[in-house]
Amino acid sequence: MITSIQQLKKHLTLTEEELSWKESPNSLPILITDYYMSLMDKTDINDPLRRQCVPTAAENRTAGLEDPDPLAEVEHSPSSRFIHRYKNRIALLTTDVCAQYCRHCFRRRFTGNLMGPLTEEDIRDCCSYLEKHPEIKEILLTGGDVLTLSDSFLHHLISCLRKASPALVIRICTRMVAVNPDRITDSLISVFKSFPEAPFYLMTQFNHPRELTESAVKATAKFIDAGIPAMNQSVLLRGVNDNADTLEELCNSLVFNRIKPYYLFQGDLVTGTETFRVPLEKGLALEKELRKRLSGLAMPLYAADLPQGGGKVPLCGSYIEGKDERGWIFRTSDNQKRIYPDPQE
Ligand code: SF4
Repeated sequence: MITSIQQLKKHLTLTEEELSWKESPNSLPILITDYYMSLMDKTDINDPLRRQCVPTAAENRTAGLEDPDPLAEVEHSPSSRFIHRYKNRIALLTTDVCAQYCRHCFRRRFTGNLMGPLTEEDIRDCCSYLEKHPEIKEILLTGGDVLTLSDSFLHHLISCLRKASPALVIRICTRMVAVNPDRITDSLISVFKSFPEAPFYLMTQFNHPRELTESAVKATAKFIDAGIPAMNQSVLLRGVNDNADTLEELCNSLVFNRIKPYYLFQGDLVTGTETFRVPLEKGLALEKELRKRLSGLAMPLYAADLPQGGGKVPLCGSYIEGKDERGWIFRTSDNQKRIYPDPQE
């Protein structure tokens, strides 16, 4: 496990930009698993896997309108450990620890501060909130990375949540399968299998096809074989996956391995992450190209989480050009016109 620039130097020849990264109380720590290091092309300074976990001086810069909390999560937090942004679901920040820290992390205001797991009081607060809010149908177990918690802690947490709200759908939001697939043991899976009353969903974050190794696929399959569907949320990252060929390969490979490409997120306006953001015009062109190349099953929804807590919105160009006496005028992806009339009565 790599935790410092000094250790990184033993494995990689660092660039000036990487060596100039400054650690500060607000910076995300360095943590890279041995497994993920083994996937890297150590001779390529632009390796897309390296870019996701080796810090650079760009993180120390703040671009215009960047904010530590662009989604206004703090404003929507009834307690420091859960966020209630959308009426029917909450996000529970189970721990601030991850198996590996992603340099593009959108929750870096919280992640990696060494606060550790939820306390008993945090769990009680969340459960009593669930009891008072029956409109909440789903909970996202996130952080940090929920699968850094021990099996026994997870069992205890899920028991409490299920008791407070038996029909709650639980999303396990994790990057563990991509960065440390050995964590996915039979004993971990048996924790989830011991709560058959309501469904779990696995929410993965694979950003590049090279992350879908045999080990990662096997780890994800353990969930799927246990009846837990897997959905992937990628982030569109400059220098990692911002081209149609890479995204096409990623999405097809996900589908082949029974993981539904769910979202492709435009980068949030988080402090220190400008280096990863892709211009929206380029993102929209990629979305259009992918729509031509991928099946509906393989196509993720390109979306942005708007600044100042504006919420998620889908991003795509309009295929509707207007309306005349014949009906709606559409422009196909091959740039041809089609008329679609409304029903006469
Ligand atoms: S695993 Fe998630 S929470 Fe942790 S650093 Fe990566 S993006 Fe952030």
